[in-house]
Amino acid sequence: MSDYDFDLFVIGAGSGGVRASRVSASYGARVAVAEEYRVGGTCVIRGCVPKKLLVYGAHFAEDLHDARRFGWNVPKCDFDWPRLRDNVLGEVDRLNGLYTETLDKNKVTIFHERATIEGPHEVRLASGKIVTADKILIATGAWPVVPEIEGAEHGITSNEVFHLETLPRRVLIAGGGYIANEFAGIFREFGSQVTVVNRSDMILRGYDEQIRDRLLQISMAKGIIFRFNAPFQKIEKLEDGSLRAHLDGCDPIDCDVVLFATGRRPNVAGLGLETAGVELDGKGAIKVDENSRTSVENIYAVGDVTDRIQLTPIAIREGQAFADTVFGNKPSVVDYNCVPSAVFSHPPIAAVGMTEAEARNKLGSVKVYSSDFRAMKNVLAGRNERSLYKLVCDAETGKVVGIHMIGPDAPEILQAAAIAVKAGLSKADFDATVALHPSMSEELVLMR
Ligand code: NDP
Repeated sequence: MSDYDFDLFVIGAGSGGVRASRVSASYGARVAVAEEYRVGGTCVIRGCVPKKLLVYGAHFAEDLHDARRFGWNVPKCDFDWPRLRDNVLGEVDRLNGLYTETLDKNKVTIFHERATIEGPHEVRLASGKIVTADKILIATGAWPVVPEIEGAEHGITSNEVFHLETLPRRVLIAGGGYIANEFAGIFREFGSQVTVVNRSDMILRGYDEQIRDRLLQISMAKGIIFRFNAPFQKIEKLEDGSLRAHLDGCDPIDCDVVLFATGRRPNVAGLGLETAGVELDGKGAIKVDENSRTSVENIYAVGDVTDRIQLTPIAIREGQAFADTVFGNKPSVVDYNCVPSAVFSHPPIAAVGMTEAEARNKLGSVKVYSSDFRAMKNVLAGRNERSLYKLVCDAETGKVVGIHMIGPDAPEILQAAAIAVKAGLSKADFDATVALHPSMSEELVLMR
């Protein structure tokens, strides 16, 4: 046991920080965590969880519509945003309570205030109290980037979108990534007019081109408007309270809400990193080695603040590996190969491994199998929306190096298929597996 107040002081009680705290404490470490907002972090409080609940809520628009084709007499339905919003926020409160309880049960001391680093072993709390610790773990996550343009203060980010007082009639979304496409789908299903504006000419950079194109086509068919190569110039507030966005290369757009979904930046400002000598990389993320150790021997960092892969399950794995290695006597490192990901758009996208273009660059000789089909449910519903699944294989060995999907429940299907890719299975192994009929996922083993 060290002479410090704690063996470990964690700054930030999000996915990575909570996992690291809880597991380190279970190994017998005396742990404290400081959180200036709410225990749970971005994922639970203003990210994955409330977003997914809104995605479910939005999808009822299509389900209620399609139900009529399946024989149900559905009366005219209308949507009540405040009811969904409050129910979602209620669920967030419940999870916030559970996360806090988990820390309490593991005897982790929680300081509900901001903490800054004063030295390698010293942390100052907002109240002025100084706390010492043998090791410090920074798990402060990331924060939405708001472009520096005139009138930016009139826009909101994913932090505020869950709290909107009323459902906006017209939404303008800046950015073409995860958050932009997920909220474009959500608001469109709720009946808002949605325009997505991006500075470049593509959505979802990094995803397979054909899959991205399919989402773009389907989104446009649903009535979402896209404007590309149109950086923001300024946002003007009009007399009636609405907003006018001025963009390069296209006419101004009037709307009720501007949502900035232009990336997330590591949360390092004002943490005292310079005082302690913790180095940042060129993009402002904390530099760490494979054990999440920073340039200061006893200071570590996990999760979005290190910008390795900005995904909750990665932050959790990094937090777990840190605790196992430092306090559990079970050295481990996170394997970043074949990390599956999903975009909860309407319909969703899911992917694991290399895109076709990446595989061609890396392997040279590639064989691609695809299935372009209309889900049975969509056929009866008269919904002209096609799914696309792609299997990218090494042409020499037959090994499946990537799977890319867009269609109903794609993320639910891909999680299991990702095991096969991670395990290095080949197209022959997929072919040898009997189809589960009738399902959408059977397409994965029927591609010829
Ligand atoms: P993304 O990185 O996905 O996309 C950012 C978008 O904003 C891109 O289209 C980019 O354009 C554009 N952009 C970036 N900087 C600027 C700028 N200064 N001015 C104008 N446009 C800009 O970011 P998100 O905000 O959507 O999400 C942040 C991160 O959160 C994601 O990277 C992801 O890791 C995580 N996330 C994951 C989700 C999931 O797993 N389902 C859901 C939500 C978030 P360009 O293409 O030209 O670079």
